[in-house]
Amino acid sequence: MDMNIWECVRCGKCCMENWDFIFASVEDLERWKREGRKDLLAMTRPIYKGEEGKPRTAGFRKQPQGRLVAADIWFNPETGRKYRQCPFFESKGKKAGCRIHKTKPRVCRDYICREHLKAVR
Ligand code: SF4
Repeated sequence: MDMNIWECVRCGKCCMENWDFIFASVEDLERWKREGRKDLLAMTRPIYKGEEGKPRTAGFRKQPQGRLVAADIWFNPETGRKYRQCPFFESKGKKAGCRIHKTKPRVCRDYICREHLKAVR
């Protein structure tokens, strides 16, 4: 497959329209630990699979239980409240960008949208 057709056109729609579906994988969390990104980790809320098998979100400052399966993102580390939009999204003129592009969550990196295809038609 020609990967050039999937080149991002930097419209920013993926960040704005899919905000409710964005999460961090266990691999993202481990990478941020390796990279020393305490700032990013402090903005996550880990989701643990408990003994009863149901995923549960660890409350802000609560003791974690079960096996880590993912993390909800992004939370203000001071208030514990989830941001209303991604705090790393930036828009300059007609071009949008991600301020943590090199280490953004896997779900953001893997996203493929119809805007990519429109740009090459
Ligand atoms: S982390 Fe980056 S790519 Fe993901 S939603 Fe935020 S701005 Fe967009």
